[in-house]
Amino acid sequence: MANRDDVSRELAECTECGTVYAARQWPDGRVKTIGSESCQCGCTEFALVETDEETMPPDRAE
Ligand SMILES: [Zn+2]
Repeated sequence: MANRDDVSRELAECTECGTVYAARQWPDGRVKTIGSESCQCGCTEFALVETDEETMPPDRAE
């Protein structure tokens, strides 16, 4: 059973080279890539990629 309060699966993009990884966003807002903590280029900063596959309320400001 999926727990909706659990971590959500997201996409994260490396801020250096733009490579996109599967990632998880934790309830505290942190984003961690799955399987590795850093990009192939060595960067460890990732930006969450917003996906429109789910219908999100437009007033969700973050
Ligand atoms: Zn990178």
